[in-house]
Amino acid sequence: MLSMVEYVHQRILTYPSNLIGVDFTMGNGHDTAFLQEHCREVYAFDIQQVAIDNTKKRLKFVKPVHLICDGHEHMSLYLSSFDIGIFNLGYLPLGDHQVTTSLETTIPAIKEAIEKVQYVLFIVVYPGHDEGKKESLFIDEYVQHLDAHQYHVSSYRMLNKNCAPYVIEIEKKK
Ligand code: SAH
Repeated sequence: MLSMVEYVHQRILTYPSNLIGVDFTMGNGHDTAFLQEHCREVYAFDIQQVAIDNTKKRLKFVKPVHLICDGHEHMSLYLSSFDIGIFNLGYLPLGDHQVTTSLETTIPAIKEAIEKVQYVLFIVVYPGHDEGKKESLFIDEYVQHLDAHQYHVSSYRMLNKNCAPYVIEIEKKK
């Protein structure tokens, strides 16, 4: 089985390479670096300076990448729309586990990203910790009610492991 992040990357490879990508949770920068390879331009958000420092070290290409030290709930200050987006929720591995994404900001950010996305949005959810469980309950409920004429909503998840991380994919219909 592919890991959740590997799965997201495989899916992104099926999209054209001239698009604008957004990493809504920069963390250690793996997704930002991947998007830089596959997209024309990248925006990446994190509220921790350490995430920006770690991400800078991973970038290999000269394509434009905007590393933004601000919450993803403020995305409209930086972009009006985008093509491919990734939320990898939870806390920074090896970092401060107190600094996790939290429902209060995840809700408005996900709602806005769904409005702004032109191709596809991935959300990797981690229900194995308290805040992640709350995020998971909200997100599952919210995406189930998105208009089926406008979006394909699907999921990649293990069914025989309790509280394992999973992916929600929201594809905008063309
Ligand atoms: N759980 C993932 C990694 C998630 S990293 C894994 O195990 O691989 C999540 C990142 O989101 C952290 O670096 C954290 O600082 C960042 N974050 C938390 N709240 C945020 C917000 N409101 N806007 C942008 N980034 C945020």
